[in-house]
Amino acid sequence: MNSKKKEIWTRIRSQLKLLYPPEEIDLWFSGTELFQVGDGSILVKVPNRFVASWIKEHYIKSISELTKTVLGQKLSVELVVKASQHYPKIISPLESSYTFENFIIETNNKFAYHCVRNLIFHNSSKIDPIFIFGNSGVGKTHLLCATANLMLKKDIYPCYISNQILNQYKRMEAINQSRDSWDALLMDDIHLISGNYKAHAPLINLFDHFYENNLPVLFTSRVPPVEIQNLDRRLLSRLTSCLIAPIGPLGQETMVAILSQAALERKVHVPSDVLFFLASSGKVIKELKKDLSRIISYLSIRPGKIDISTAKGLIENRPYEPTPQTIQNLVAQYFDLPPSFLVSEDKSRQVTHARQVAMYLCRKLTDMSLKEIANFFGRKDHSTVIYAINKIDKRKKEDLDLQKALEWLISNFL
Ligand code: ADP
Ligand code: MG
Repeated sequence: MNSKKKEIWTRIRSQLKLLYPPEEIDLWFSGTELFQVGDGSILVKVPNRFVASWIKEHYIKSISELTKTVLGQKLSVELVVKASQHYPKIISPLESSYTFENFIIETNNKFAYHCVRNLIFHNSSKIDPIFIFGNSGVGKTHLLCATANLMLKKDIYPCYISNQILNQYKRMEAINQSRDSWDALLMDDIHLISGNYKAHAPLINLFDHFYENNLPVLFTSRVPPVEIQNLDRRLLSRLTSCLIAPIGPLGQETMVAILSQAALERKVHVPSDVLFFLASSGKVIKELKKDLSRIISYLSIRPGKIDISTAKGLIENRPYEPTPQTIQNLVAQYFDLPPSFLVSEDKSRQVTHARQVAMYLCRKLTDMSLKEIANFFGRKDHSTVIYAINKIDKRKKEDLDLQKALEWLISNFL
């Protein structure tokens, strides 16, 4: 029976070679075997999920047609991945919000974008490893994660290695040992491996494994391969053999588009003049996204009330360091009170509430003792502080306005 199955499979493969370039068929079908011929279908074993997904997209219809010629009746084709693998783990945490759908394509990243898309939807049978390089914030990690996310959707399991793992040579060794588990290799910030010779050897083996099995390989880096210092020559020659795709700086229009999309994802409308104002500040996109977050949390408590000068104030007066003074000032600004009221004897409801919020934040955001907080607010006894903290903690559970206020106030210190 076994030799019969072998023969059937060889015949189907030879017929396929009449329909497609023979070397292409050799490449994709080299590790495959006919496992079962059932009533309505045949079961074909394939070496990994990447090959499965590729065969499914390109040849499965033809194979099914050929079963008619070879077996006398048209059968459907099912693919199973050989059971050698244990279930692959995701090595590094993947940013699930980075997708191809929310990646803005522009002149400076078009080439890299298409190279990366080709890794999954490619037209040629030989897959080139890809090496993307560009400055911080140009979208390298975004593209890499988008690739990983899309692969996972298609049941292709990438070995995604972030920059934190790259230099842990023992982990690299372990990954290399279980390299059969994955269908693609994606490595972020490979330039960081510079000088860490111990991690070079497992990386070379990993690269060779994926390359020789015609599986996708994608690297990102701040600089092109030749500019990575202190690199094993064998590793360097592999990296330079990749298809090199630079990404240039993001244009201002692209930054506006990225910010506008980020606001949209959070279901908040930020007027375009404010977005242009942000994008023209000369900051890198990572900083701009933080500025946008501040504007968005501000808008969540004061809907619709944003213009360029408010935005400017929000961004420029960022206190960063949580100290009793910065907390006092910000809380006072939020509740439209003079800062001195918070440390006064005033017992009106509004002032008391603002003071309690300020005490609560001092406790949450600084390492001041209860006594120090009490002293700062001009109170002799720290029981007032305990009372304030408990009160705010309890109230925030049901008071939506208070929740939003705290969220916004805290976001100023992040
Ligand atoms: P890099 O890895 O090159 O330093 P990232 O991929 O971390 O940059 O990008 C920084 C931020 O900018 C991320 O929030 C990312 O989503 C966003 N970003 C960069 N380029 C684009 C783009 N072309 N389209 C959408 N978002 C982008
Ligand atoms: Mg990055």
